[in-house]
Formats: sequence, structure tokens, C-alpha cells
Amino acid sequence: MQQDKTWVVLLGAPGAGKGTQAKYISQALGVPIFSTGNLLRQAIEAKSALGELADRYIQDGNLVPDEVVIKLVQERLGDAAYQNGVIFDGFPRTPTQAVALDALLKVDYAISIEVGDELIVERTAGRLICPACQASYHKSYNPPEQEGICTRCGTALTVRKDDRPEVMRERLRIYHKQTEPIKRHYDKQGVLRLIAGEGTIDETKSLIMQALGVLV
Ligand code: AMP
Repeated sequence: MQQDKTWVVLLGAPGAGKGTQAKYISQALGVPIFSTGNLLRQAIEAKSALGELADRYIQDGNLVPDEVVIKLVQERLGDAAYQNGVIFDGFPRTPTQAVALDALLKVDYAISIEVGDELIVERTAGRLICPACQASYHKSYNPPEQEGICTRCGTALTVRKDDRPEVMRERLRIYHKQTEPIKRHYDKQGVLRLIAGEGTIDETKSLIMQALGVLV
């Protein structure tokens, strides 16, 4: 068990803004982001055995099996970069993963960004991602400086395969069934903070900073 470090879990449906807000929280608290989705996409790009296994689950909008993700987290959390805490983006996603995480550390804050399904579908329809550095954008809400080009590294942006509307509906169904129950898990621990996430990026950011007790 590790203490006096900052461990934040970000919850919320796919497209609720976890990745965007994770960057702000990371800057404010000075701890890095740990995104299982990004780690899995990197493994797919690298064509590793893990990537090949994960690819078919992700393409169909399904969750990668618990044992695979838990092993990945256990391995990567040992990296030197993560020794002062992390912002978990996209992990845990099932009660089993939440229990596995409890065995590794004590979560300080579980921030759940609350956005209704209708708005989620609208938002993911315009989402763009950089295949090289994983930065994410939105055509209307958070556009890159130059259309179609990553502001951070200059690579051509792409649409995530799993953001297609039919896959998105499946991801939302899975979110409500498998991931939302985790809120209860963290509520019982007294660390759950529900954040209204339907406003602008800045409004959501301020609410999160208040919940974390960070002055901005
Ligand atoms: P994300 O970028 O967090 O939306 O993740 C993209 C996809 O990766 C998800 O739809 C899942 O298929 C898979 N994935 C990411 N994190 C997890 C996790 N903690 N457990 C299971 N599957 C995951």
C-alpha cells in the first residue's frame, strides 16, 4: 500500500470528457495520466500479442477481459513515472478491476463525469484522435489549430473505429451495465465525487478542481 501520493480515478461514459479533463487534473496535481485505452491502442499499433488480443474486443465495443487489463495495470504501474500517483483514465471499468486496484493502492478521489447518453452520442460523433501521440480533439468543442492536424505533433488526425455510432451504442450499454456500478464501490469508500459534465470543457474543469480542492 502506498500513501501520501495522489491516486485519482476518472469515471464517466465513453465521450464524457475523461481524457480532456485528465490533462487538466494532471497539470494541476503534477501527476501523470494512466490511460488503459491508450496503452491498449499503443499495443495494437505495435502489433504485440496483447494488441492482437485487445483489437477484436475494442473494435466491437466490448471490454478487454479483466485478467488481461489487470495484468497490464499491475505491470505498468511499476514504471518509475508513476511512483507519485496517477490519474486513471478508463480504469477500473468493472467491479472486479476496482477490487484489484484496491489491492494495489488507496484511491483518494473517484471523479465521475456525468453526461446523458444523447449528448454522448453527439459528442463522440465529432471526436478525432492523433494516432501518434494520442491527443484527442473534437470538431466543434475542441478543434485542432489546423483542421485535421494534431496541434501537438503535426500528425494527421483520425476517427477512432470504436466511435462509430453502432459501436458507440454498444459501448454505452456496457458502460451502464458494467462500469457504472463502480460508483457505488467508491461511494462506500467516501471518495466518490459526482461532477456535472454537460457544460463547456471549462465549466466541467472548474467543478472538478473544486472537488479536488485545487485553487485555479
Ligand atoms: P478508452 O480509450 O478508455 O475509451 O478505451 C477504449 C477501449 O479499450 C474500450 O472500449 C475497451 O474496449 C478497451 N479498454 C480500455 N480500458 C479498459 C479497461 N479498464 N477494461 C476493459 N477494457 C478496456
